[in-house]
Amino acid sequence: MHDTTARTEHRLRRFVAERLETAAYRSRTPLTVTAWEVPDEPVPFAEALSQDFTPFEIGSPWGRPWSTVWFHVRGQVPAEWAQDLIADGAGAVRLELLVDLGFSGAGPGFQTEGAIWSPDGVLLKGLEPRNHYLPLDVAPGDWVDLYVEAAANPDVPNGQWIKPTPMGDKATAGTDPIYELRAADLALLDVDVWELTQDVDALQGLMLELPATSPRRAQILRALEDMLDAVDPEDLAGTAAAGRERLADVLAAPAHASAHRLHAVGHAHIDSAWLWPVRETVRKCARTFSNVLNLMDADPDVTFACSSAQQYAWMKEFYPELYARIAQRVREGRFIPVGGMWVESDTNMPGGEALARQFVAGTQFFIDEFGVEPKEVWLPDSFGYTAALPQIARASGKESMLTQKISWNDTNRFPHHTFQWAGSDGTRIFTHFPPVDTYNSMINGAELAKAERQYAEKGRANSSLLPYGYGDGGGGPTREMLAAARRTADLEGSPKVTLSTPEGFFTQARAEYADPPTWTGEMYLEYHRGTYTSQHRTKAGNRRSEHLLREAELWATAATVRAGADYPADALQRVWRLVLLQQFHDILPGSSIAWVHREAERNYALIEAELETLIATALGHLVGAGEDRIALNAGPFPRAGVPALGGAAAAGTVEPAGGAVTIEADGEGWVLGNAHLRVVVDPRGLVTSLRDLAADREVVPAGMAANLLQVHRDIPNEWDAWDIDAHYRHDVRDLDTAQEIVAEPAGDGATTARLVIRRRFGSSTITQRLELAADSPALEITTEVDWHERQKLLKLAFPIDVRAERATSEIQFGHIHRPTATNTSWDAARFETVAHRWVHVGEADYGVAVANDQTYGHDIRADLDPAGRPITVVRQSLLRAPLFPDPDADQGEHVLRSSIRPGAGIAESVREGYRMNLPVRTVTGAGSGTLVAPLLRTDNDAVVIEAVKLAEDGSGDVIVRLYESLGGRARAAITADFPVTSVTETDLLERPREDGSGTLTQADGGSATVALRPFQICTLRFAR
Ligand SMILES: [Zn+2]
Repeated sequence: MHDTTARTEHRLRRFVAERLETAAYRSRTPLTVTAWEVPDEPVPFAEALSQDFTPFEIGSPWGRPWSTVWFHVRGQVPAEWAQDLIADGAGAVRLELLVDLGFSGAGPGFQTEGAIWSPDGVLLKGLEPRNHYLPLDVAPGDWVDLYVEAAANPDVPNGQWIKPTPMGDKATAGTDPIYELRAADLALLDVDVWELTQDVDALQGLMLELPATSPRRAQILRALEDMLDAVDPEDLAGTAAAGRERLADVLAAPAHASAHRLHAVGHAHIDSAWLWPVRETVRKCARTFSNVLNLMDADPDVTFACSSAQQYAWMKEFYPELYARIAQRVREGRFIPVGGMWVESDTNMPGGEALARQFVAGTQFFIDEFGVEPKEVWLPDSFGYTAALPQIARASGKESMLTQKISWNDTNRFPHHTFQWAGSDGTRIFTHFPPVDTYNSMINGAELAKAERQYAEKGRANSSLLPYGYGDGGGGPTREMLAAARRTADLEGSPKVTLSTPEGFFTQARAEYADPPTWTGEMYLEYHRGTYTSQHRTKAGNRRSEHLLREAELWATAATVRAGADYPADALQRVWRLVLLQQFHDILPGSSIAWVHREAERNYALIEAELETLIATALGHLVGAGEDRIALNAGPFPRAGVPALGGAAAAGTVEPAGGAVTIEADGEGWVLGNAHLRVVVDPRGLVTSLRDLAADREVVPAGMAANLLQVHRDIPNEWDAWDIDAHYRHDVRDLDTAQEIVAEPAGDGATTARLVIRRRFGSSTITQRLELAADSPALEITTEVDWHERQKLLKLAFPIDVRAERATSEIQFGHIHRPTATNTSWDAARFETVAHRWVHVGEADYGVAVANDQTYGHDIRADLDPAGRPITVVRQSLLRAPLFPDPDADQGEHVLRSSIRPGAGIAESVREGYRMNLPVRTVTGAGSGTLVAPLLRTDNDAVVIEAVKLAEDGSGDVIVRLYESLGGRARAAITADFPVTSVTETDLLERPREDGSGTLTQADGGSATVALRPFQICTLRFAR
């Protein structure tokens, strides 16, 4: 036979584009439209309904950016459609409302969306760019009367991810309308034509993925050619059924026995804020969930997995009628809560307790609201995964985990799709990466073939999960996706697609893969390395809020236990939920529009004010009224005479325990000294010598300087706020010119020696305060920056005279090691890393900690000093200034604290991290009294108490969360200084732990003895 493949494929393409895609609707008739524009922020349905609607012409512009217009659409179903509407089987039609708000080719989520309401206030369905119909159950002659709430959300990226745009803030986005109402019609969907379209899509998609030489590909092509011959382009309605007959045989051919099996799970990845503000996410959820419920009504096989408890909570608060319908579908097992986190948070930066609370708050919400406890972690889109996650997830009852983001790596290909992931403590969790590499699948041929092709476990296992549905305001699953799933359920040449659930998938995956491979340690995303640093104020707010929450819970617990005060459970829950929301994977990472980050900053200010009030109230109960100064230490270690988790008379804290501190001019520089350190600062304001007196050892390599601010040009190739590209290192400027250096002399009795250094760079000013306290083994550096740069990265460098093969970084409930070398492509790609309060570098018997109070981004690498001797350079990433999506990111004032602590092991590093983040608080009251005595004590400093709180169940029991902090075995007695009836070990949700962990070895009155493995988390319930 002559080869006509190319010509026939071309013929098919033209037919699809020119005829088939435009023929789905047999008849259309326009509705009458009136409109009301909301003056500012969105209003509820009832408020909109009572407004004056004015006539609105189809084809007219509407919608200032971020505004809302309500359209009232009315009309009568034409009587002449009666004949069409009674047809059944071949020639059947369906009556639908079709609204085109002016949808563009931009992706779902990046443009206008709408919601269709009935006149009695029922949210019927979303109107999304690729899903903008509403099925109608009305008869010819009936009136249709509906409202459309149209959101003029602008296309913020506008086709690229780097160009500054004013669209990310209502204040700068302008007032010109950006959409045009193109249609509001009643229409008759031609069922045969629609079904033919789905047949052709499935077969054409499959065919194009098959080898050119495959018999199956040729069979499909010839069947499609026969279909083209059988249909009349002038009368598709009349001939579509005949066309479908020509395709029936190729659609009926069953899949190969070895075909990959895909569990298709309906989903909509709705970012809880990103290129739109949080308030719009609330509406996006309502629109998408109403779509899903509408689809469930039409198709009994549809299930939908939805992760974030926050999104359900929004529906409960703002859309109670919709929420009741969701709850019904949850009870039926069709609307499926998954994940069990409050939001799909970032996992790099949230602190240990906060990441635990993501699971506690989310899972508890699902249990309380629906009696459902998800067993899967669902994090398809977060920017890398902390090594602490497996333990936290398992301790909150999770058994499996799903992500796929590591497929975005820019350098290395992750070796597994289904595997055991072992965390920092060795805990394993069964983990799956969908090989389709998307969480927004449309179930098209290219995606299915990609999943089968890429699946790395072939030969040992054969199943993967396929999350399908448009996210972010696309409305989730569509009927077209379901049609595709049905056609590929058992189709020769295609993977087999089954409509399934997360539980269904994981059950099968475990059963068929008894011994999956293991990946140990963090899952570092080789991409988006700027997210540890972008939008610094958001990060500072997160760090501060986490530590204030620790304080508020501790002191409120003490006030309840000691003084009978009411425990502010509701206020704490409200604040926790807001902190957890803002850890969402586009808020804390700094990748959202200006609106989101300004709102986050305002929220952090409110959080701080509320927590300070809670702390003051609790401390008021504990210290009473009076003029005595009392020092309170919420940290886990004693500080300057103040016990851990307790208070003491403040007098003891002002006398320098370690002796005097001095500051002297030395030539053109200065020398700061105390019993621990001798610090030399040169006229450039750089630390040229940092001598550890006890160890008799110099920390700064000869010829180098610490406290060196370095500015890099920071223009990533794409994804401005997200990425730091490796080439940033090619351009660097050292800030080694000081405008002014002022020494604050440490006179007799002074407790701190201080040097103030002022610098200018570009349009920015930087003031640093170098401080050495009398009794401190650490040099503290406060860097105040008034930052007005664009696309610059500011780093603070500490060259350290140790040869460290690895750097140690604090993560949640412990730390991890990362090589300082760049031997492998994996090491080389890890050129910017995340740490929490401290990092540590060291040799066999000597190390140095570098700590911070709000910085996450670091780079730590092996280097040489000028004489060629091996050293280690630790740098903190202080600030960036990306241009997209917020053109003013990071502009303005910042105050960051850093410290360098020579002679530190891991234990000292841990202490330094807490010291920098939990300052001792001084209040006035009536003596130190017994009320401020610590509620709890431990007898082993390796075991750190991370949280003290009252139980979530309102029982009044005291919950204590602790962890082993050094990476070794530790026994500790935890002793309560209040009457205790029993001590039990619980999971993170405060439920009795019955897995025989053997952690709690003895419980005796108010004392519990625990035996912890490296980095083990333990939660104890002290019943009162
Ligand atoms: Zn996302």
